[in-house]
Amino acid sequence: MNCWHCDRPAHGVCRFCGRALCRDHVREMPYIVALYKDQHNTHQAIVTARALFCGVCEPREEPVGMPELK
Ligand SMILES: [Zn+2]
Ligand SMILES: [Zn+2]
Repeated sequence: MNCWHCDRPAHGVCRFCGRALCRDHVREMPYIVALYKDQHNTHQAIVTARALFCGVCEPREEPVGMPELK
């Protein structure tokens, strides 16, 4: 697989959308691995600080509600 930006061999893949990235074009972005509520009913997030990011796919900071899923 080649880099989305420059078509050279890729070194990794965007954590958010799956685009391939070379070392020159890879970016890093915190990635939320899991969300849960603690015993006080406040939201807590488990985050990896430096997930690979392509710079294109604009992940949202806030989770998107899915009210149709019960
Ligand atoms: Zn590249
Ligand atoms: Zn991406």
